[in-house]
Amino acid sequence: MKKVFSLLMLCAFTVFALVGCGGAGGGANTSQKDAAKTLRVGSSVDFAPFEFQDETQKEYQGFDMDLIRALAKEMGMDADIQNIGFDGLIPALQAKNVDVVISGMTITDERKQNVLFSDPYYQAGLTIIVRDDEESIKSFKDLSGKKVAVQIGTTSAEEVHKIEGAEVKEFNLVPDCFMELKAKGVDAVVNDRPVNDYYITKSGATGVKQISERLTAEDYGIAMQKDNKELQEKLNAALKKLHENGEYEKIYTKWFGEMKDEKK
Ligand code: GLN
Repeated sequence: MKKVFSLLMLCAFTVFALVGCGGAGGGANTSQKDAAKTLRVGSSVDFAPFEFQDETQKEYQGFDMDLIRALAKEMGMDADIQNIGFDGLIPALQAKNVDVVISGMTITDERKQNVLFSDPYYQAGLTIIVRDDEESIKSFKDLSGKKVAVQIGTTSAEEVHKIEGAEVKEFNLVPDCFMELKAKGVDAVVNDRPVNDYYITKSGATGVKQISERLTAEDYGIAMQKDNKELQEKLNAALKKLHENGEYEKIYTKWFGEMKDEKK
């Protein structure tokens, strides 16, 4: 009886010890691995269809969100996405709080002084949205003498500041610009064309229209720390791979419909 008991105790002790060790050892390994395998992503999640929140979904939605998750997967990593205001994205990179920024961000010479960009992944440009009954704004030059809402820190803000006589009102979020237009606090909103398209056609917006003139051609890129050449190479290789294996096209079609050949 005594023998059986001590045998049982031994078994129990061994199991306990093994599990204990396994747990602790595994824990340390996993957390080290996690750090190396997590791609910390910053994005201003207010820019449908590139990045937005859908109350019925747990994860952030949009073209950029799908793309960065696919790119991370291709690099053997998991994307951990943080929502940061657009004008705080480059500072977050510089403070090393995130590894990359994907946020419909246009590659500009000014930004290139502070960050590295991946190869371009989407071509956009700027358009104007006005209220339905607006007759006096037909092009960008007509914004002179008008009140115009833009998102702070964007290429839209920069371009509208160049139009002499235009009064610029800057907002933190793009949806705030549209609200101000509807509330008649401004005469127009200048913003990226694909986001304006989505606002007009998909979000059920009423009482507003988009002017067809497009200002500038802008390439979106993924931003990284200025000295992170290694990540830039890895990201560009992963992006190339997604173009080759059809994954990019799949994500593009999901959000924008059929892809024209020159974009492949
Ligand atoms: N493409 C514009 C820019 O880079 C706007 C981006 C945004 O508002 N998310 O400035």
